[in-house]
Amino acid sequence: MQYEPVIGLEIHAELNTKTKMFCGSLNDPDEKHPNVSVCPVCMGHPGTLPVINEEAIQKVIRVGLALGADIPEFSQFDRKNYFYPDLPKGYQISQFEHPLVKGGTIELPSRTIRVTRVHLEEDTGRLMHDKGSNASFVDFNRAGVPLMELVTEPDLRTGEEVRQFGEALQQILRYVRASDADMEKGQMRVEVNISLRPEGASEYGTKVEIKNINSFKYAADAVEYEIRRQTEVLEGGGAVAQETRGWNEKKNESFSQRIKEGSHDYRYFPEPDLPPLTISRERVAELKAALPELPREKVRRFRGEYGIEGETAEIISRDRDFADYFEQVVSEMKEWERSTPEQEKRPAVELLANIFIGDFLRLLNDTQSTMKDVRITPENFGQFVALVAEGKISSTAARTVFDGMFRTGADPEGIIREKDLLQVSDTYALEAAAQKVLAAHPKPAADFKSGNAGALQFIVGQVMKETKGKANPQMVQEILKKLLISH
Ligand code: ADP
Ligand code: MG
Repeated sequence: MQYEPVIGLEIHAELNTKTKMFCGSLNDPDEKHPNVSVCPVCMGHPGTLPVINEEAIQKVIRVGLALGADIPEFSQFDRKNYFYPDLPKGYQISQFEHPLVKGGTIELPSRTIRVTRVHLEEDTGRLMHDKGSNASFVDFNRAGVPLMELVTEPDLRTGEEVRQFGEALQQILRYVRASDADMEKGQMRVEVNISLRPEGASEYGTKVEIKNINSFKYAADAVEYEIRRQTEVLEGGGAVAQETRGWNEKKNESFSQRIKEGSHDYRYFPEPDLPPLTISRERVAELKAALPELPREKVRRFRGEYGIEGETAEIISRDRDFADYFEQVVSEMKEWERSTPEQEKRPAVELLANIFIGDFLRLLNDTQSTMKDVRITPENFGQFVALVAEGKISSTAARTVFDGMFRTGADPEGIIREKDLLQVSDTYALEAAAQKVLAAHPKPAADFKSGNAGALQFIVGQVMKETKGKANPQMVQEILKKLLISH
């Protein structure tokens, strides 16, 4: 029998607000010292009262709008009761019946994934278990940090789709500036629900939940592993147990954590310390109008407006700041485009796009830089592209110049002057060098004349050597052909 995998996701993301969800303590993910971003409210002291962080509400609504979701007029916080040492109040303020966001979709290449809901809650503290002293420690810096939870319908079918969905959501969270969504810092966490059903069946099978996965790749691996494991269970005549499993990325296998016996009773009830929210339609309209251009639209526009082909537009749009910077350079180049005759330049936007997804991205990755660290001004970047497009520097020299610009923020002409990298395009100088080389190498010259076209490359190479690599190779070719034919 063939089985069809059915997968739904629950994804948590910490919002990048200035302060915590219900108090004025800082929400600082880079705080290294434990228990400093805390106050009586997020420490759960008796007699304190929470106050709703408006910035967090706005950010979740922005996410909802970016997903094309409904923003209900009525929303409410609920109290979710459970005991755990990282939860100082003994309950978590969350949302149950009335989330901020309902519905929405994310489009994957293979299918459309429906979002069930997005709600807002508070994060817990962090427990550290120290084997040496056999003690556990708790850091409350994270307690009360705004946390959004997005739940999907069980619409996904493969590990690859899980990876694509996670990446698409991460990109949206960053575009609308709701979350930094850094998986390595635990700012985005994925739970995968997965079941199998016989191909063609309408009912879902029993699902297994894999919790706390901290990379999209691991999420995809975990799904593929579970599909194999559950297939074996079913083919062996067994039944899949409804359980929570963890993922061991070293062994590349999932392991049972606990068997689920019915659902937890969290005794949810409306949070009595907070008023329900009325989200006015005017506010929603304002937030919608203030949304940035989203990744899909940007990719489409880049293809249309700049004629950037294939995957290049997607790579440039992956990060909003990267794409914005690209357009700043494009606008810096407008004047140059207007004033430079067509025949003297390569298509500059295409060249610029290639530099962006090539050397520029490589240097950003190698140096682990963000766009904030970039020292090249858009003006200098544009000048650099113009110099390459006009053939003023060779491709080897271009790389040296660009590396220098990236490291120091210096302007390209300065580096070219300092390192003497200007490409020699002077016809007389090149002819002189070519004649010298031809005189020194009569044999390849004769070979070329007697029909061996390959001999020309050797001579071009010698001229490049003669000019210390600074000759314009196209011009050298032409000059050599002219000289050899007229000889
Ligand atoms: P629970 O009550 O166990 O929390 P929910 O109905 O709230 O389950 O769904 C939680 C997540 O599990 C959602 O992402 C949903 O799409 C997914 N899900 C629900 N049923 C299944 C199933 N049979 N197989 C796979 N995923 C499922
Ligand atoms: Mg649930």
